[in-house]
Amino acid sequence: MTFDIPFIKPRLPPAAQLVEDYDAIIASNWFTNFGPKERAFAAGIGAWVGDRTAVTFTNATIALIGLLRCALGDGDRSREVIVASFTFAAGPAAIEWAGFTPLLIDVEPDGLQPDLEQARALVLSRSSVAGILLTNTFGIGNDAIAGWEALAADAGLPLLIDSAAGFGSRYADGTMVGTRGTAEVFSFHATKPFAIGEGGAVTTGDHELADRLRRFQNFSFAADRGADGLGLNGKLAEIPAAIGLRQLERFETALQRRQDVLERYRAGLPAGWRLPAGIERSSVCFATVLAPDRASRDRARERLTAAGVEARVYYTPAVHRQPQFADAPRSPSLAVTEDIGDRVLSLPVHEEMPAASIRRVVDALAGGAA
Ligand SMILES: *Cc1c(COP(=O)(O)O)cnc(C)c1O
Repeated sequence: MTFDIPFIKPRLPPAAQLVEDYDAIIASNWFTNFGPKERAFAAGIGAWVGDRTAVTFTNATIALIGLLRCALGDGDRSREVIVASFTFAAGPAAIEWAGFTPLLIDVEPDGLQPDLEQARALVLSRSSVAGILLTNTFGIGNDAIAGWEALAADAGLPLLIDSAAGFGSRYADGTMVGTRGTAEVFSFHATKPFAIGEGGAVTTGDHELADRLRRFQNFSFAADRGADGLGLNGKLAEIPAAIGLRQLERFETALQRRQDVLERYRAGLPAGWRLPAGIERSSVCFATVLAPDRASRDRARERLTAAGVEARVYYTPAVHRQPQFADAPRSPSLAVTEDIGDRVLSLPVHEEMPAASIRRVVDALAGGAA
């Protein structure tokens, strides 16, 4: 089904710019394996978040697998990594690919962010916890980030942060998403605010970890010795890196426009509906709204579809409801995750979104509720 107003509409660089880049890549005869475009793009990502080393990847899922292995060591199923059940399946899947077991926790109701107190209870009561994968839901920086860092430091555990949708977001204390914990992971998939098609990056202040990640994504080759660990191929090629470099040039403008769309949605929200706390300091991957109840959400979605607007429901089913993760150990209560799955609705946010399109979304949302 095609929609007048699709869920995503990434703005990619104009062809003329890319022709120039493509010619430069051909002239350099360097297509992948840490070429000049990739090196410049990685430096640009690190500089954007500020004073961090960035290691680019083919996508965020491979980056997560690499980070889990490089930060936690070889996997062992008896060792657990704490992760929220209300997230995209890539995080828990990466935990399993890295050889560990996901240990699922709930989110808190205001920002739909992982629940720090549940994580603390698990860290204190189980000796099997190997690390924490903190998911910044919808790319919103966790309000309690300092508390998560303290918990991890006290327990001697790495704090790995899945900020896939959050390149360009800020934490509540003003620091950039990408600068906290042991390392953070971004996705540059077409659905994300910083879109190149497929791509990702890890940002970290730990240079040794960055070196390990670069070896991991290149078959874990060590100089002259061949593979000295289990690696894979996760490198970002020159053409997507060139697109990323062009996107960086105008990302400030893109962020502003996305936040403007969000504010118009906020102004038009029907009574009883709300936005997750902190979304205004995010890069607004999409605009997730919470309906007062399931019936209102479902009716609104039908009205949106009828009006030619593509809305989606993230993240439902929650991780613990998906067959692959049905046996994953979990916190005694996932009550918030269970509740919000019935009420979330994600609205399209485009960088270039005419006022009339925004109005159409707002009107369809309000519909019978108005
Ligand atoms: C999009 C997303 C991913 C996966 O990113 P890819 O680049 O598509 O592999 C992982 N985690 C979260 C939270 C995401 O939103």
